[in-house]
Amino acid sequence: MDGWILGLESTAHTLSYGAVLSNGQALPAATDTIRPTVGGIHPREAADHHRDVADNLLTKLLEQHELSLSNLGGVAFSQGPGMGPCLQVGAGIARALAAAHEVPLIGVNHCVAHIEIGRSECDCDDPVLLYVSGGNTQVITRLDGRYRVLGETLDIGIGNMLDKFARKFGHPFPGGPVIEQHARAHLDAHPNATLDGLELPYAVRGMDMAFSGLMTAAVALVQKGAPFDAVCWSLQEHAFAACVEVAERAMAHSGKHELLLGGGVACNQRLRDMCTIMAKEREGSSHAPPRIYCIDNGTMIAQLGWLELGAGRTTSLNESAVDPGLRTDATPIAW
Ligand code: AMP
Ligand code: MG
Repeated sequence: MDGWILGLESTAHTLSYGAVLSNGQALPAATDTIRPTVGGIHPREAADHHRDVADNLLTKLLEQHELSLSNLGGVAFSQGPGMGPCLQVGAGIARALAAAHEVPLIGVNHCVAHIEIGRSECDCDDPVLLYVSGGNTQVITRLDGRYRVLGETLDIGIGNMLDKFARKFGHPFPGGPVIEQHARAHLDAHPNATLDGLELPYAVRGMDMAFSGLMTAAVALVQKGAPFDAVCWSLQEHAFAACVEVAERAMAHSGKHELLLGGGVACNQRLRDMCTIMAKEREGSSHAPPRIYCIDNGTMIAQLGWLELGAGRTTSLNESAVDPGLRTDATPIAW
């Protein structure tokens, strides 16, 4: 393959440019995330943010890795799923760069990119992916040439649930890392902590999950006087147990032995530890990519673009419209 591949990620709160060299080597991305101080993320405001930072961020990536657009070999972008206005910013930049430099355009599936960067970084072959991010919570594996969603959240994503809970108590986005710190503080102060008095509803249906009831109950627990640290701990224990239970069921049904974590919530050490314990009990293995490749990043988009281009797939302008509802199983695995 000639030249390096640029990857553009813009599905939600983050604009990120990443790069993969022609030999497949992945380079860390240049990333900028909108962090509203009040309220959640509005798709239009996020899109405006992406537009505002786009130029400088690309320069940052090029300088950081001493890359030049003159030997660009292709431009990959997140075609979906995600927030329409945000996706459109990334797609617009990608189309313009590909046209200006006369290189192929490759529209890729964001969820599949999480899987592929994990597979290559962790050197695993045929995993069950536990994809836990702000907007998505899914258990996915490869069956009949496509990545199939075996189970998923029936309401909000687990990260969104953590962010909403944290925001109720004055912690701005992203709330997940704050909750992790408070949960750890609870355990440090109470090494033999139990869930007595901190029970929360636990919603697993087959291989699907739900998180909004859990969040409402956790908020109520704090409002009734339970210590914030203790509720953060209980919230993590319940939410992660639901994910691990579903992942284990997916491994059992599909007969697979590797578990792979992806998405921003996969930065959480407690979740990583719970997955390791479960996989070990099944005589399997659990893998988590470096944290810079768990959160949304342009490198994973470049890497999937590199794979797709290597398999001969490019996206014509006519096919380059974004698809906010793009399904994981819509992408044939051609590589
Ligand atoms: P993503 O949508 O994949 O970019 O991931 C963003 C989500 O990951 C947000 O909901 C964050 O709160 C969450 N997150 C990031 N770090 C952690 C962490 N250490 N523990 C739990 N959630 C986290
Ligand atoms: Mg993501």
